[in-house]
Amino acid sequence: MTITESVSKRERGGCKGCSADVRVTDEQIQRLISKIKPDACVTDELYAKRLAACEGCASMAYDTTCMHCGCLVQVRAKLKDKGCPHPQQAVRALWEARHF
Ligand code: SF4
Repeated sequence: MTITESVSKRERGGCKGCSADVRVTDEQIQRLISKIKPDACVTDELYAKRLAACEGCASMAYDTTCMHCGCLVQVRAKLKDKGCPHPQQAVRALWEARHF
């Protein structure tokens, strides 16, 4: 691969190490969310709170991916048994239910 090809690939959002695109569409995310069992999901209210925290977080990349765990935040935020992996407690606390 030439430097020009590499830059072009990066500009398109491609991973440097492979040919996969690192961006995920809303449709792909919704398909993943639809496979989560209802009893494994948080309430809609908590889900919205978690997504708001991620949207304001400097550790989110591509509007989808947490740089601390590599998870799609829209999927991780749905899961009751998942928390925010941020090293700072103040950020992790934004994900917790006690803020309701
Ligand atoms: S560190 Fe926490 S708040 Fe930030 S993007 Fe990851 S899951 Fe979201």
